[in-house]
Amino acid sequence: MSILSEKYFWNEAAAYEFVEAQMWPKGPVCPHCGTCDNIRKLNGATTRIGTYKCYHCHRPFTVKIGTIFEASRLPMHVWLQSIYLIAQSDSLMPVRELEQALGISAKTAKVIAHRLHKAMLVSQPRKSGTKAGPKSCIPSAGRKPGQLEEAPPQRRLPAIRDFFSSMGAS
Ligand SMILES: [Zn+2]
Repeated sequence: MSILSEKYFWNEAAAYEFVEAQMWPKGPVCPHCGTCDNIRKLNGATTRIGTYKCYHCHRPFTVKIGTIFEASRLPMHVWLQSIYLIAQSDSLMPVRELEQALGISAKTAKVIAHRLHKAMLVSQPRKSGTKAGPKSCIPSAGRKPGQLEEAPPQRRLPAIRDFFSSMGAS
């Protein structure tokens, strides 16, 4: 069975679940205030896939905020396909190849390639041994909405290669 037959490569809800599991291994974390213990998933008929609401700061969010997926209208499962393709290639994948493999426009392929190549540079191992990883969780007790204090939510790019290491594909 091809790895590309995994559900998250073609099903949008599954794609979100996959990315959420990578970014929030201990459950959703509000990117606005850092809270993790007063969050509910929104499931209305008109609600976009992957939308959560923080009942601490009363703002909605998705796992895309603060990542390379932010402000992109490209479906999450296409992002995952792109990540897979780029993570598999030893050198930087030409935009044209990405465009053809995914059946997307040249403009979209360019945006994806730019963001992913940049993210991969950022996710290289750092000297101090610190590792780009899942967002940490800050309990909301005693904090006011919008108050960031000494531990602001981390706006870090996901480690692209790490996404797939657990599947033995990197
Ligand atoms: Zn919040």
